[in-house]
Amino acid sequence: MISRREAALRLDIPLEMASRHGLPGRISEQDVEGLRADPPAWLAQSWANRTGKKPVWVQLTCNVCGFSESARPKKWWPAFTWLTCDHHGIDELPPVAPGHSRREIDEIGSRFVGIVDEPYA
Ligand SMILES: [Zn+2]
Repeated sequence: MISRREAALRLDIPLEMASRHGLPGRISEQDVEGLRADPPAWLAQSWANRTGKKPVWVQLTCNVCGFSESARPKKWWPAFTWLTCDHHGIDELPPVAPGHSRREIDEIGSRFVGIVDEPYA
């Protein structure tokens, strides 16, 4: 059995949609595979609407230790050069390239800091 969140991830739909359409809190992998193989109308519609849009889920992976989690991307997230868990030191990352500035964005996912290296304008 997997959680509803994991099922939503595999079906590439928001968690709210999974709840709204009655996916139980725990669901078997076979049931999820069944939905993928033979999607009901609401699921097929969701996939069709989403083509070419931003992904519903992204995988966040720490560049230092490899810790990884799935998260719903936020509109305000820039393109990150690096991601690290918030307990790592900034000196564990590669140094900023010459001619670039670095900024840190806190509270990405459950525990990440996003690092954005940008060339000086
Ligand atoms: Zn880490």
